[in-house]
Amino acid sequence: MRTSILVRYKDYLPITADTPLFSLGEADTPLVRCKALETEIGCGELYLKLEGCNPTGSFKDRGMVVAIAKAMEAGSKAVMCASTGNTSASAAAYAAYCGLTAVVIVPKGKIALGKLAQAIVYGAKILSVDGNFDQALQMVRGLTEKHPITLVNSLNPHRIDGQKTAAFEIVDVLGEAPDYLFIPVGNAGNITAYWKGFVEYFQATKARSKPKMMGFQAEGAAPIVRGHVVEKPETVASAIRIGNPASWKKAVAARDESGGVIDMVSDAEILAAQRLMASKAGVFGEPASAASVAGLIKLSRKGLDLSKKRAVCIITGTGLKDTDAALKDAQPFIEVPADLAAIEKVLGWA
Ligand SMILES: *Cc1c(COP(=O)(O)O)cnc(C)c1O
Repeated sequence: MRTSILVRYKDYLPITADTPLFSLGEADTPLVRCKALETEIGCGELYLKLEGCNPTGSFKDRGMVVAIAKAMEAGSKAVMCASTGNTSASAAAYAAYCGLTAVVIVPKGKIALGKLAQAIVYGAKILSVDGNFDQALQMVRGLTEKHPITLVNSLNPHRIDGQKTAAFEIVDVLGEAPDYLFIPVGNAGNITAYWKGFVEYFQATKARSKPKMMGFQAEGAAPIVRGHVVEKPETVASAIRIGNPASWKKAVAARDESGGVIDMVSDAEILAAQRLMASKAGVFGEPASAASVAGLIKLSRKGLDLSKKRAVCIITGTGLKDTDAALKDAQPFIEVPADLAAIEKVLGWA
């Protein structure tokens, strides 16, 4: 059994004698080096951090295990979140494990089917709001202020604390911080969390340096890049379809303190990166997670010299939850009869 991050990183987490220590198997995710992508992109060393390997298929589980443990410690009976999909899946799973009620509010018709299926089978109470994520989050903030229910969106500081452990893992595995960290930005909790993690490890002298934080929004949902709220965010990458990020200021601080950038990538660049990552590295990430690789490719094409650098791309969630997005412009099957000779002919082996 793996050690819970609640135990492994307890010195960096808000753990008390009363915090329940448990694990659904989250964290300790693979850091995979990909030489084919290094060659393709022209990067010295390139690693993919596979957060889709978490129990519900996204990094949200790291934050959720801490948020739910602290909710249990506080005697909470119910948790609530707004979600583009992955937060609701994670909240529902951890609430189920701990015997809590989970209430999730999702934007109507805007959530990938695999994520919705998760919330349903884990037994969450699911409300579909006729609005976008930002409006759903507003509802949840209002409701959790009024009722004795714990908010488990990334506004909950325990979520950020749990998610920062991914930065610790990267340093623990590589022996030091990478030069660059590429990461998708939606509500901006995760870039905030990673930066917090790198800074804390640096201060604890576990790392001699800190990475430049390279955050990427989708072009149709890029409020930080454009400098204003996007009222109707649109992108194929539903997990970052957010027009008014809750951690906006903290993301900007992470960018500026690290000497990094927050930029944007188009849906076409995102889908191309998703394909490239799958076909060159054998890693199937959901569209939002491919924004990190798309960003790396974009900057390298624009002249950022990474040839002697070590970069890590955070692959935030598994592609299996959103097969619709992946199949959108897919090549059709080659239809064949159940006949050996005919198949040999099609394959050019005849
Ligand atoms: C939540 C999520 C993001 C965005 O993270 P933020 O903390 O909202 O910036 C990116 N990718 C995936 C797969 C996610 O689930």
